[in-house]
Amino acid sequence: MALAPLNPKQPTNHVGISGNEHADNLAKSATDSINCPVPLSDIKKYVKIKLDSNWQSRWNLKEANKLHSIKHLITCWPSLPYRKLDTVLTRLRIGHTRFTHRHLLLGEPAPHCTACQCQMTVLHILIECRQFNHQRIRCFHSSSITLKDILHKDPHPQLFTFLRTIGFYSLI
Ligand SMILES: [Zn+2]
Repeated sequence: MALAPLNPKQPTNHVGISGNEHADNLAKSATDSINCPVPLSDIKKYVKIKLDSNWQSRWNLKEANKLHSIKHLITCWPSLPYRKLDTVLTRLRIGHTRFTHRHLLLGEPAPHCTACQCQMTVLHILIECRQFNHQRIRCFHSSSITLKDILHKDPHPQLFTFLRTIGFYSLI
């Protein structure tokens, strides 16, 4: 049994009316593109690219962040095979160690370098402090290095030797 149209006088399409036929074709093509299935993997890839781009843009503005001077791109860096070494490396990269920051928990004055008369920071200990120039030259073959030189994606192979030589390793 066939159902009768609700209004038999109303045409069911716009055949013969050129403007309306064009509108019908546009509507049909729009509907077709909406219904076209997009693979989930393509959607995930697109969303990841957008999120990474947004994250990178925000990270580019964080120039005061200690890690930013070492890591400009948000790409993943590999971990070191030994947990202890990886922890030490991460603490150096973010500039927070037990030695340089425990005073905040204990309510004590910040540690000072008596040789340079300034506050002890990771930057000062690794790069600036003149009392470690000899060890710096021996391990890195230069007394003028940057944090990026020794803490980048692939840390300097002599980094941990340097830390042990100056007595900083066990305080990190
Ligand atoms: Zn110093």
